[in-house]
Amino acid sequence: MNAKPHIAVVGAGIVGICSAYFLNKSGFQVTLIDKNDPGTITSYGHASTFADYACVPVNSPDLIKEIPSMLFRSDSPLTVDFFYAIKNLDWAFKFIKNCTTKQVNYISGALGNLLNSASVSYDEIFSEVDVSKYIKNEEALYLYQNKYEFLKAKTSNKIREKNGVKIKILSKNEILDLEPNLASIFYNGQLFIGSRHTNNPAAISKKIFETFVNNGGRFLKNNIADIKSKENLVTLIYGNNEHNFDKVIICAGSWSNILTKKIGDDFPLDTERGYHVMFNNYDLINRPVGWSQSGFYLTQLEEGLRAAGTVEIAGLNKPENKKRTKMIESEARKLLPQLKEVKSTWLGFRPTLPDSLPVIGPSKKYKNIIYGFGHHHIGWTLGAVTGKIINSICNDRVPNINIEPFSPSRFN
Ligand SMILES: Cc1cc2nc3c(=O)[nH]c(=O)nc-3n(C[C@H](O)[C@H](O)[C@H](O)COP(=O)(O)OP(=O)(O)OC[C@H]3O[C@@H](n4cnc5c(N)ncnc54)[C@H](O)[C@@H]3O)c2cc1C
Repeated sequence: MNAKPHIAVVGAGIVGICSAYFLNKSGFQVTLIDKNDPGTITSYGHASTFADYACVPVNSPDLIKEIPSMLFRSDSPLTVDFFYAIKNLDWAFKFIKNCTTKQVNYISGALGNLLNSASVSYDEIFSEVDVSKYIKNEEALYLYQNKYEFLKAKTSNKIREKNGVKIKILSKNEILDLEPNLASIFYNGQLFIGSRHTNNPAAISKKIFETFVNNGGRFLKNNIADIKSKENLVTLIYGNNEHNFDKVIICAGSWSNILTKKIGDDFPLDTERGYHVMFNNYDLINRPVGWSQSGFYLTQLEEGLRAAGTVEIAGLNKPENKKRTKMIESEARKLLPQLKEVKSTWLGFRPTLPDSLPVIGPSKKYKNIIYGFGHHHIGWTLGAVTGKIINSICNDRVPNINIEPFSPSRFN
């Protein structure tokens, strides 16, 4: 009898954990490898929303007009390290090329298609992995600071609705009925109907990971130093030794391109850095509350109230920028004046391609190396559906979602 094909999954963020889970379930021998503990990097510190509604990319015709004023505002959702940007102008040009109305519609359609299968894919995992105490069904609320921002959002809302997202506009008073602790500093807002969130992303990752291990999956804590393809095998170098696998999946988030370059696949992968500030509060809000003014969500977690979001373009190596966490803290306090002391702050690295679409599929050069990275603002939401697609590819089945827009060959 032939041995089961041996697949290595590199990167144990939510995308790698879900991929390993589905591959193991469908009968492969699976080794998940990460230099850190599973689920402890970007997939730990995010805003914790299952954002099935978030099909509109950051790219937009309006953004180009607004960037100059955003860069000079101290409470802006976006900040750019000038020297880093100058060194990476090629990425910026590619990003701008994807800001036309036509491209934004294309990207939203592709993301919307993926997002429409996000919840059902998680539910397939959750039918075996009991995480019910960590899933909350109070729908996410998004607040607009003024009438202008609300009217401007109509374009994005139209795109969302076209992609099946259900939105309910609420007046200020209706919002205060739902969330009475909010300070009345906003104009109005909207609910994303049917959306859910978690109060403990780390616990969900851990539970899925533990089920994978209990079902026979293997985890190795190691840094992948190199990757080579030889004949029908893929060789990973870790612990100073070569290890052969039938297939390798690369789900290393923002660090994926360091590995793909080693086999000659170079992607325009950059990072949108984001922050969270954790407050020592436990009962101020019932649902995630997004704040358009500064681009973050307030979410009540088991470990405290988390304000998470904003975008900083400054690469992978610069340390935490305290100005950003101070800004998030002061804006959060304006919305919720009852906030107590800060417990901790965190910097995370969203893996982002300039067209705001992930890379999902086999390497053009080596069909037994498969990619799953670049999920930018919605990687937590897309973990399970990406894992399912990767499992279909490894089983030589055509995924039931059109994955052409996510093709690794699209940048050639
Ligand atoms: C502030 C903020 C708020 C966000 N809010 C949301 C939200 O509300 N909803 C949502 O859906 N998404 C959100 N996101 C996005 C989401 O967090 C990410 O898209 C997602 O976590 C990416 O998951 P990943 O598995 O691709 O990467 P990661 O979680 O970063 O995992 C990659 C793993 O690869 C490992 N690795 C890298 N290189 C190597 C190597 N050479 N050898 C071994 N291991 C390696 C790393 O150690 C890491 O564990 C947010 C992000 C931020 C920063």
